[in-house]
Amino acid sequence: MQSVDPVALDAADPLKQFRDEFHLPVFHPIGEKASQEQQGEPCTYLSGNSLGLLSKRSEVLIKEELQVWANRAVDAHVNHPHQRPWAPIADLVTPSLARLVGAEPEEVACMGSLTSNLHLMMTNFYTPSPKRFKILCEAKAFPSDQYAFHSQAALHGFDPAEAVVEISPRQGEYALREEDIMAAIEEHGDETALVLFSGVQYYTGQWFPMERITKEAKSKGCIVGFDLAHAVGNVPMSLHDWGVDFAVWCTYKYLNSGPGGIGGLFVHSKWETESPPKLHGWWGHNPSTRFHMPPDYDGIPGASGYQLSNPLVRLTAYLETRLRESKYFIDVNDLRPSKNTPTGSEAQIESPTAGRPTAFTIITPQDPSSRGAQLSLLWPFSSSSTPDGQRPMQRVHAALVARGIIGDERDPDVIRLSPVPLYNTFQECEHAATILELVLDGLARE
Ligand SMILES: *Cc1c(COP(=O)(O)O)cnc(C)c1O
Repeated sequence: MQSVDPVALDAADPLKQFRDEFHLPVFHPIGEKASQEQQGEPCTYLSGNSLGLLSKRSEVLIKEELQVWANRAVDAHVNHPHQRPWAPIADLVTPSLARLVGAEPEEVACMGSLTSNLHLMMTNFYTPSPKRFKILCEAKAFPSDQYAFHSQAALHGFDPAEAVVEISPRQGEYALREEDIMAAIEEHGDETALVLFSGVQYYTGQWFPMERITKEAKSKGCIVGFDLAHAVGNVPMSLHDWGVDFAVWCTYKYLNSGPGGIGGLFVHSKWETESPPKLHGWWGHNPSTRFHMPPDYDGIPGASGYQLSNPLVRLTAYLETRLRESKYFIDVNDLRPSKNTPTGSEAQIESPTAGRPTAFTIITPQDPSSRGAQLSLLWPFSSSSTPDGQRPMQRVHAALVARGIIGDERDPDVIRLSPVPLYNTFQECEHAATILELVLDGLARE
């Protein structure tokens, strides 16, 4: 299986210089059983799909912002020594965000947080009638999204069990087949108000056929929205050209904006003329008169008109560092070719499975056009009690963490490993595979 040489691949990696720009988490504080020598060594961080790493440049920027706050306080909203006045700071970020999702800058706002933005968008775009009230989504969507769907249906007086229609993979399969998604849209389309999928599924890593979903759903007269939490900064998209109605995302996963980082939102420009009424807040008001505090609302056209509050500057600055300056900006298309493909992480991690009783199944689709950077390993569910009462997945995960391999566990039985092209290396993928092999050997001997 090792026809690919990770050292050679790393040497040829066009993104290799970016690794040095990040703080790599050290072994000791995460791996509980780190030996003395291992303390202080960087661990193999494969959780960038959950929380991206802090870039050194972001650290500098945050310190600058604290200093500005200390020295200038309110004045920095307009006079900022580093040319990042706080009042329009989100505007510095939106063009880059727009590029990442394939949108016009006016179609994107840098604002709020993911679940709140989802509710905001659903408030605008989920306007069910007795005949057309369903929300069509993938089964096992991220729980926050499921809660949002159910509570929105209930808010409109519908029974969530009837209104929220989930499409499940076939028996024995893990990814949704495109034809099954299309069949469900065909079947439920006439009664569906909103088709809302994630771009990349958080649990399986499946990248859904977003363009086809949009086309099919539009042909049935449905509104189409996407949750891009795991897609933005991971896979290329063309939301504008595809005709997606709206999308929401967070930026602390593949965009490295830091825990709780500011969110993003897309609303297609076609809605500028036919839009349902926006909900208003002062940050959606014309910035040239906003601080005159006029009683009458004068909205900003486009997605920025959905802004409600002034943005969290420190976290917006994180983002700015990553995205705004073109020398730091990398097109997602450039990120994809190497580590997302089966010759990257997957082949190396898949090889240890052969012939082992505790073998896992990779549930992430193989096809590069149906996946991002993440690899999800499914472990056989076992209710039989092991010496420590843990299931195989939990035992393997704990053993990996103890050896400095930081993926994450997702109940019930999946370990997600996400080699992020920007800062992970092929050698790390191979190292993770070697450790996984050791762990499996150890378990097999028990
Ligand atoms: C990460 C993630 C969230 C988290 O929501 P927040 O509002 O940022 O806490 C929600 N939905 C999906 C699909 C996610 O992947």
